[in-house]
Amino acid sequence: ALSPEPAYLASLNAPQREAVLTTEGPVLVLAGAGTGKTAALTARLAHLIATRKAWPSEILSVTFTNKAAREMRERIARISGGAIEGMPWLGTFHSIAAKMLRIHAELVGLQSNFTILDTDDQLRLMKQLIVAAELDEKRWPARQLASCIDRWKNKGLTPDQVDAGEAEAFANGRGADLYAQYQARLKAVNACDFGDLLLHMLVIFRTHEDVLERYRTRFKYLLVDEYQDTNAVQYEWLKLLAEPRRNLCCVGDDDQSIYSWRGAEVANILRFERDFPGAAVIRLEQNYRSTPHILGAASGLIANNSGRLGKDLWTEVDTGEKVKVVGVWDGPEEARRVGEEAEQHQRRGSLSDIAILVRAQFQTREFEERFIAIGLPYQIVGGFRFYERAEIRDALAYLRLVQSPSDDLAFERIVNTPKRGLGDKAVATIHRYARASGQPLLLAAAQMLDSDELTPQAKRSLGRFVGDFARWRQMHLAAADTSPSPGAPPPHAELARQLLDESGYTAALQNERTAEASGRLENLAELTRAMEEYENLPSFLEHVSLVMDNDADKSGDKVTIMTIHAAKGLEFPIVYLAGWEEGVFPSQRALDEGGTASLEEERRLAYVAITRAREKATIFHAANRRIYGQWTSSIPSRFVGELPKEHVEEETTMTGGESLWRAQWSENGDPFAHVAAQRPDRLATRGPGFGRAAQSFTPVPQRIVEARASAVSLGNKGRDDLSVGQRVFHGKFGYGAIAAIEGNKLEIDFEHAGRKRVLDSFVSIG
Ligand code: ATP
Ligand code: MG
Repeated sequence: ALSPEPAYLASLNAPQREAVLTTEGPVLVLAGAGTGKTAALTARLAHLIATRKAWPSEILSVTFTNKAAREMRERIARISGGAIEGMPWLGTFHSIAAKMLRIHAELVGLQSNFTILDTDDQLRLMKQLIVAAELDEKRWPARQLASCIDRWKNKGLTPDQVDAGEAEAFANGRGADLYAQYQARLKAVNACDFGDLLLHMLVIFRTHEDVLERYRTRFKYLLVDEYQDTNAVQYEWLKLLAEPRRNLCCVGDDDQSIYSWRGAEVANILRFERDFPGAAVIRLEQNYRSTPHILGAASGLIANNSGRLGKDLWTEVDTGEKVKVVGVWDGPEEARRVGEEAEQHQRRGSLSDIAILVRAQFQTREFEERFIAIGLPYQIVGGFRFYERAEIRDALAYLRLVQSPSDDLAFERIVNTPKRGLGDKAVATIHRYARASGQPLLLAAAQMLDSDELTPQAKRSLGRFVGDFARWRQMHLAAADTSPSPGAPPPHAELARQLLDESGYTAALQNERTAEASGRLENLAELTRAMEEYENLPSFLEHVSLVMDNDADKSGDKVTIMTIHAAKGLEFPIVYLAGWEEGVFPSQRALDEGGTASLEEERRLAYVAITRAREKATIFHAANRRIYGQWTSSIPSRFVGELPKEHVEEETTMTGGESLWRAQWSENGDPFAHVAAQRPDRLATRGPGFGRAAQSFTPVPQRIVEARASAVSLGNKGRDDLSVGQRVFHGKFGYGAIAAIEGNKLEIDFEHAGRKRVLDSFVSIG
């Protein structure tokens, strides 16, 4: 009797089945979102194993994220009843390459236990090279070199292959040379960076035929998901490995190519048919994910892009709501709406049904704060919670130290951030003195300025650092005593902006000229915006510590907040799309660049965003955003206008931005009042309470006086063993005789170092 069709095949449609059963030769599955590309690829993997065409270890499967790899592994386990012998090579390009490179490291001059550098190490190394090359590191920051080198690596270029024009991109043509030096340094310390994983293996494939041959023999089948986002080096890899059998199956969607900034090339799709003549090109048109309205809205939107391969999508589903487009008053209202709907949904369904997709990381803050306020569990996928991001924690450390000069943790975090030439040694010296004299670090640092414990260079930077804090502290105290003028940004938000500028923090990020750095700048702008909603600095910092403390339980049912980039390949029954306004989405960067290419990539992102939804998609645009203390009205995204009317239901919570604005004025006499009304957990920006909080707060000059007094007494008590003329030993300057004593400071004539001013806690009786 015929055995029944295996379950993994039974559920597939005809073209999907073709994608699974065409096991030999090149196959390209080109299809829109939700048409079951990943499902077909997974079934193909199961099929190859089930029919014994290959052992699991003879199949190479590439996913775009580690999460996707995990999901695929689980699906395979389910399909095959959990029993597969040996694991398939299944993971991202990088994880697969790392696994291979461990085996062949010596061929590129590494040992198999090589380390993979993180970004910090990488930048430190590049900076050393830039300095050694006598380049101005302000003008040519390490981050910029890093992004050049990354780009070359993505293109599969080794230092000697970087052509003259390319090399110009950094320091007038010295880029290629620095790239070569960087690679040499990495080799010397037995390390490589992320980009090297692929590039080294590519070089090995190119130069060691035996190794290439080994993998060609081993991998009978190659499977690639999210093919539209492969870059040049990855494509070359696949091409080399796929020969001579050419059992390469790639699935992708040109409309979902959203990583061109990371070197992905849609052109790889077009190249496929040329490089693999006779490839079976399979198109899937039936969408199994979304309702017709969601699909219609997404298709109508993406039709505005030119240069598409073009495809039709249809679904058998004939129910479902229209895509909702909601115009709200402002960001907090957007967050409030989503929070309310999530709570309603929670009564009958699961919070994990819900995803909130944002264009940029900074947009998560309003949602996080709202959800914390109402106790709605959430998780941020593929990123950190707003107040946990590095740049936000840095900024908060500055603010904490302004508010409380004895906050040593804050001091440690920022004393050399941005880099100001205060190395570990200088910091250790400050520590020792602070411990010995029982003072906070900032105060100890201030006292060390007129001693010789630190190098002149360290003293100069530390002097600037201490001076800056003294000034900001003055501003902070002054702000508590004056009432802000109406309409002007509250002084503590101004202080934060000024502090970020004057400390060099903003400039350091601007110099990086990378997409990542501009994301961080956006986060900082969002932080100062958030501060405006609080009465003063202490109340803001208080709020933050409460928010940070609210560590929503690790397990359990949660709403997901993530960027659209991170949501690729995923699906959720209910999706909220936030901030569809010009300048947010499409992003300001894309608008500034002006070309159609960047705008079309934004539109593809919008397409990806909508097509994540299975049952319900809601798009928000706010009429107002508060920027630099001013309400500015924003324009709905052009993408909203591009959604076909028949698939959209518009709703507005106001009769029109302007009239609501007026209503707000007449009702409350204050357009800001609604913030307080909507968010009783937040204080209005000003009111009778202003100043009271600041007073309840210990003024620090007094604390400084106390600290100094205790330091002096501590020092004197401990050191009444010292007298003029006495021979002492100092760790750095050696032996010498005390020439003068002034409180806790000593003038000492050292035998070799000459006369120095040192702190008494650093000497011992010689
Ligand atoms: P994306 O482009 O977003 O990555 P995709 O093309 O990879 O989408 P899948 O994630 O594989 O699509 O499938 C979308 C949804 O459709 C999934 O829930 C999947 O289980 C379901 N699905 C796929 N194929 C079928 C089918 N033949 N019958 C029923 N459901 C299917
Ligand atoms: Mg997919």
